[in-house]
Order: sequence, then C-alpha cells, then structure tokens
Amino acid sequence: MADPGDSPGRTPFDPAALPPLREVIARHELGARKALGQNFLLDLNLTARIARSAGDLSGVTVMEVGPGPGGLTRALLATDARAVVAVERDPRCVAALADLQAAAGGRLTIVEGDALEADPVDLAPAPRAVVANLPYNVATPLLLGWLKRMDAFRSLTLMFQKEVADRLVARPRTKDYGRLSVMTQWKAEARPVMTLPPRAFTPPPKVESTIVHLTPRPTPEPASWAAMETVVAAAFGQRRKMLRASLKTLGNAEALLEAAELPPTARAEEIDVAGFARLARAFEERDPSPSRFAGPSLSHKGRG
Ligand code: SAM
Repeated sequence: MADPGDSPGRTPFDPAALPPLREVIARHELGARKALGQNFLLDLNLTARIARSAGDLSGVTVMEVGPGPGGLTRALLATDARAVVAVERDPRCVAALADLQAAAGGRLTIVEGDALEADPVDLAPAPRAVVANLPYNVATPLLLGWLKRMDAFRSLTLMFQKEVADRLVARPRTKDYGRLSVMTQWKAEARPVMTLPPRAFTPPPKVESTIVHLTPRPTPEPASWAAMETVVAAAFGQRRKMLRASLKTLGNAEALLEAAELPPTARAEEIDVAGFARLARAFEERDPSPSRFAGPSLSHKGRG
C-alpha cells in the first residue's frame, strides 16, 4: 500500500484552507470539560512555536495526546513530520477532527481512546516522538510510562502545569527536587522551553504552563525501574528525615546505604541520580525481586 507519509510528492498541507478553530469549536459544541483537562490553544502562532520547539521532525512519526479541536495538530502537520497519530478520548473532538484529517492527505491517524492505555510503540513506527499539550490530570502517569522506555523515543515535547515542570528539571538540594526529578533525569535530559500564562488557553486554567523538551539519556545509570521507584519513594516519602531513618521501610537501611556509598545522615534531597541508582542496585542485589512501589502515588493534580 502506498504510504503518503513517505511520498516526496505528497500534497502540501494547507492550514489556511481550514476553518478557524473557534468555528470548529462552535460547530461541534466543544464546550471545555474540566474532567478531561480541556484547555485549548487557539493561537496558531503559539501552536507553531510549540511544534518548532520539538526540533527537527523530518521523517519522524509524532504521537499527539489529546488533539482537542486540532490547533497543535495543524501545526504538527505543517512540519516535516512523516505522520501524526493523535489519541483523543473525547468523541466530540474526534468528530471535530474529520475535516483536518481529510486535509492531511493520509498523514493524520486519529485513535479514539485513553492515552494511558495506548502503546506508542504499537501506534507509531520509529523514529517516533511525542508532542502534546497534555491533559494535566493524567500528565504524570503518562510521562512515567514513556520514561520507562525512553530509548523508544527521539524526544518528548510536553506541556505541563508549571509546578510539575519545575519538579521535572529540579536539581538536588532544591525544594522542588523529588521523586519525579530523579525518575525523569535518570532516563532523560529535560529542558524547559517556554512558560505560558493562563490567558494563552481557552478556557484559561488557574496556573501557568511550561513546555518541557525531553531527550533520552544515551547511557542511563544501570538499575531496574521497579528498584529505582522503590528506593526513591521510600527516601522522599519522609524527605526531611535522614536516610538511615527514611529507608527503614526497606529493611536494614544502614547496610544498604553503606553498599551504595551514601552517608546515613544524608537526606533524600541531597542525593543525585547516580546515588539513587547505586542505592537501587544495592537494594536489588539484596532482594532480587523488589516489591512493586507501594507508597503514595506521584501526585498528578489537574490544571486547577
Ligand atoms: N491539543 C489541544 C490543544 O492544545 O488545544 C487540546 C489540549 S487539552 C489540554 C487536553 C486534551 O486531551 C483534550 O482534548 C482532552 O479531551 C484530551 N484527553 C483528556 N484525557 C485524555 C486521555 N486519557 N487520553 C487521551 N486524550 C485525553
């Protein structure tokens, strides 16, 4: 079967031929639903900037989570991306994207469903990237799922609420440094790209938003995901305590810390990613099948 995404002579995508996004929203009665984290981007200059911030997408299949009325999708189709696969949970938005799909000359696939259950490796052939203005209520679990197999992606370019973005890129010995910082920076290089005020969205959320660009770390510190999650959760579960106390839940904390060459009096926020990876390896060597992370889940609040 001919693949329009590969064809050098493909019909150019002409976003100017499409109706304004406000018209799409009105025609399809896309009143924003808070439960679905719907805060739409209607400024096409802004969506073009976001698509550019993903870097060179030529030949790449982009997965977008939550295309909504399709503003960012239009911008992605205007890049050199080979194709866009957009996963959307709201059937109203899926219906509203039909015109865009028709204009995209076979480069846009729309998948109706929950992105938490979608496997990007199945949906998008390599090289693949994710670009998304994420629904904030599921942003953290989506990110963690992608980080687990970060080497499957060229990059992730994602909009988070600023408070979460600050945690992703926080360095040790800062108030924002925590579980999300360690898990993210273990697997990825993460860089904030731009921060947007609430008024950039329709309807405006209560908080600022930040785009973060993540690329896979070429050689992440060796450790299993489960062991890393377990030790990081235990350490930050009681972040103000010394590790010899906070790691007691793992059993024989002093021996673990010694094996990981970490001072028992240090606190979680002083330990860098390499230190946590040593701890995870020591934990796994002692107990080769660590219990799955059992602490409170990483918070994934809504956009507010
Ligand atoms: N990309 C659009 C934009 O920038 O204007 C919409 C972004 S809006 C913040 C989030 C989108 O994600 C909404 O369209 C919402 O319906 C969709 N969504 C929410 N939860 C989802 C889920 N679990 N899986 C897939 N899409 C979801």
